[in-house]
Amino acid sequence: MGDPLYVQKGFGLKAQIRELLQDDYHSQIVDVLRERGFRLRLGDIEFRLAREFGFCYGVDRAVDLAYETRRHFPGKTLYITNEIIHNPYVNKRLVELGVRFLDGEDGYTIDDVTADDVVILPAFGVTTTQLAALRTKGCVLVDTTCGSVMNVWRRVKQYARDGLTSVIHGKYAHEETKATASQALELGGHYLVVRDKDEAQVVCDTITGGPMALGREAFAAKFERGSSPGFDPAQHLERVGVANQTTMLSTESLEIADMLGKAITDRWGADELPRRFRSFDTICSATQDRQDAILELGTQGDLDLIIVIGGYNSSNTTHLAAMSGRFAPAYHIDGPDQIVSLERITHQPYGSKARVTSEGWLPPGPVTIGLTAGASTPNRTVGEVVTRILELRGVACDLVPTAAPAPGKGGEPLPIVR
Ligand code: SF4
Repeated sequence: MGDPLYVQKGFGLKAQIRELLQDDYHSQIVDVLRERGFRLRLGDIEFRLAREFGFCYGVDRAVDLAYETRRHFPGKTLYITNEIIHNPYVNKRLVELGVRFLDGEDGYTIDDVTADDVVILPAFGVTTTQLAALRTKGCVLVDTTCGSVMNVWRRVKQYARDGLTSVIHGKYAHEETKATASQALELGGHYLVVRDKDEAQVVCDTITGGPMALGREAFAAKFERGSSPGFDPAQHLERVGVANQTTMLSTESLEIADMLGKAITDRWGADELPRRFRSFDTICSATQDRQDAILELGTQGDLDLIIVIGGYNSSNTTHLAAMSGRFAPAYHIDGPDQIVSLERITHQPYGSKARVTSEGWLPPGPVTIGLTAGASTPNRTVGEVVTRILELRGVACDLVPTAAPAPGKGGEPLPIVR
């Protein structure tokens, strides 16, 4: 019998929560888009949806588990350590279901948790320190950590066991990367978080004595928030294993792994490489699929613009936005209300942490709009964005095509329910 205070597999309530999940997250217009080959022409607007978009398997599971937990413990105080996923709509719905966040923003912290309560752990996982603190409470823990995140944890733990420092391509402040780094420490290992190729180059030069090499103090200052306590580059970069936050840009992760492998070879010689360097691509398949799909959509080449939908703090969404910008003007928005008018849109440009409002985002006349959504974006939000654009252009929202169209064409209209 499993630990009654630690739940990973749900409560067998899928049937009971199905309707609520449908109401909260489903979109009929997205279903239609999908059924019709990911293209939909209405009026003089053609929407083209990336073939992989929106909720991934990990987010699906986390949201299901959270809803099941609410249903199973209707009278209990229910907490979640921080955002279950990086999507404002999903987190708002959880608040409406009575879930409290333990990130301190609403005044709740781990200190408030009692043995009578239930705490949900998010899809990104939590640090080993947070988990230990929660376990001392004697409360029920519902762990929604994604299997792909746990796969990264297995890698870094193995590195630590084998005496390699984990070099994690990720964002040091991201919940997932913090949790992964904490796993490396558990077994007495060390870690270093590199955000991009520029930071990786500093690390490589420090290994080889190249032009950007840093001494211990300067290195500690540069990587202050992304390295393990007592990190000594002279010692802890002698043997490294590369891993990544599951939602990074996969091409960049692979390049960083190559850079580090080359630096180790330059410093120690090719014969030493197997002993001093390891790398596993731990980008999850859902992230990879969404990145591949936006490449496929973008290379079709005739999009007037691309709308990328997802939380502004969603790592995988920001990478989709970066990729989209190579093909057409790309606007990363977190929901339909960011589309202010036919002329104005509020969005977050890639590389910026601030939102801006741009003019002239939607060309007049016939237009082809690419759409994609991050792994934490519900279909409902995607559908609402489509509806918002149609409304602004005065195209009736109750029209969708019927039969499958010829390739590249829209179809005949038919009323839909929503
Ligand atoms: S993006 Fe990948 S790692 Fe993150 S929850 Fe989804 S499937 Fe899991």
